[in-house]
Amino acid sequence: MCARFFHSVALMVFVLLSLAANLLAAPTHWTIVNQPARLVNGTPALFRVTTPKPVRTLSGNWLGHEIMFSFDASSKTWFALAGVTLETKPGAYPLELHGESFSGPSAAEAISFEKKIRVEHQRYPRVLLKVPGRYTAPSPEEQHEIERDKQIKAQAFESASPEREWKGSFAPPVNAAISDVFGVERVFNGSVQSTHQGLDFRVPGGTSVAAVNRGRVILARPLFFEGNCVVIDHGQGLLTLYLHLSKFLIKEGDEVSKGQAIGLSGGTGRATGPHLHLAVRWQGVYLDPQTLLKLHLP
Ligand SMILES: [Zn+2]
Repeated sequence: MCARFFHSVALMVFVLLSLAANLLAAPTHWTIVNQPARLVNGTPALFRVTTPKPVRTLSGNWLGHEIMFSFDASSKTWFALAGVTLETKPGAYPLELHGESFSGPSAAEAISFEKKIRVEHQRYPRVLLKVPGRYTAPSPEEQHEIERDKQIKAQAFESASPEREWKGSFAPPVNAAISDVFGVERVFNGSVQSTHQGLDFRVPGGTSVAAVNRGRVILARPLFFEGNCVVIDHGQGLLTLYLHLSKFLIKEGDEVSKGQAIGLSGGTGRATGPHLHLAVRWQGVYLDPQTLLKLHLP
């Protein structure tokens, strides 16, 4: 009697354990993990998602932006880059997910999910800077040049590819200290105000500048404010910009790999001295490059 009782208890424990193991092996609910864990205005973000059943495609929408997910076979999760504009107010914003699951040989079944993702407030500093007068009060001729540059940039941005070109984590373009961070409110010559939409590295002129990830060069030419400027398209709406270069080592249309030298640093355009300005543009908004460089990406 006693032996039989222990036998049935042991059997029950075994059944419960294998049930738990099955639950762990196959997710039965959605999970969403964001990186960095604390999201603020101005940050790029990586979402990793597991779906309750296998899906063929996964897309999302957050803060009015479409997000395309890729599947990482090694971790069996879907991943995508997203971003929070500098202007975004603190709050909880719903991330909407839509997947198409395999459901036999017939039509695919649509599954969806929504989770509110918190955005906290980040305060950015304000600084006063001096630059040559023509950069705060450009002549009519220079204003014409600035307008022309806007069109050149808009055309380049439009040529960006929807396919993902970036792969793995992003690498710093130079090995140097940061001289100015993203998001600083700048007042030039006491009058003209602009937000610093990139990250400045303290490098002397002539330092080799590397592509932060794989991509295609969609712009490499001199511009009025940016100086000699390179724009690399990493796909899925993600671009990186390298400003104030003294020399180009690539040309428009070139495919570049992560770490490849694309130019030499300098102080061309509206710069207070030689340095490298790196900017990250995602779906039309500028995001903090420092955060992008810290993300662990598949
Ligand atoms: Zn800068």
